[in-house]
Parts: sequence; structure tokens; C-alpha cells
Amino acid sequence: MLEAIFRIPKRMKRKANNTTVKCWCKHCKAELKPSHTGPCPKCGKTGKDCAVASHVVVGIRASTRIRQKRAGFKKFLLEVISRWKPSINPKLKDGVHEDRTIDKSRREYHQTIKDAKTGKVIHEEHERLENHKGKPKN
Ligand SMILES: [Zn+2]
Repeated sequence: MLEAIFRIPKRMKRKANNTTVKCWCKHCKAELKPSHTGPCPKCGKTGKDCAVASHVVVGIRASTRIRQKRAGFKKFLLEVISRWKPSINPKLKDGVHEDRTIDKSRREYHQTIKDAKTGKVIHEEHERLENHKGKPKN
């Protein structure tokens, strides 16, 4: 759903660093200015969701992080990360590609690690957020 609303324009990818904010009505999904306050001009209800997307290019590797924010949630409501990272495994010279989603409203944690060269899934986790907490990282 978020991907459909939040498309990162291709021209942005050439730049080294980019942060974009996009907001919409919580009820009817009408796009709102990040500075918008008060009721929605379309449906009249109050409530705004915002997503902050950071797009970073290091060398030829691009990484994207999207965070959806909502009042009442610490830091973010939903975080979607898609990035390349080096691997400690010497067999994976080209590193790995990580896709990670933390969804606080549905209390879900999803992580997929793929071989950056072949695209083969090396590691996958799909679990409840509360089960994930307190585990050692990686
Ligand atoms: Zn609305």
C-alpha cells in the first residue's frame, strides 16, 4: 500500500542523499501538505499520516528507508528498509541485500536477506514484533 502511495522518482536516484516527506489523510488517503493541520479538506475528518523516505546512494549501491509516522507511536508506525550491506561471510563478496519491514500497527517484523549477486534468499524472518525484541541483532 505504501509503495503505491510513495513512489521515489527516478531522477532522485542520481543524487547522493535524499529525504522526502509525504503526508495523506488517515481516513480517505487524500494527499495533504506536510504542514497541513486540522480537518481533511476532502472528507472533513482529522488525522494525518506521514512518510519520510531517505534515499542514499553509496557508490553504485542504493538504499531506501521509508518511515511512516503517526501521533502516539514512538519514532515511527511503519519502517521499510531496502538496502545493500557488506557480508561477514567471505563467500558473499558482493554483499547482501536486506529488505526489512517493522510494522507497529500490525505488530509484525519481516526481514529477508538475499545474495546481492544471485538474488537467492539466504535468510528470512517473519514474526511478531514482541517475539523479535530482545534478540541479539544479526
Ligand atoms: Zn480525508
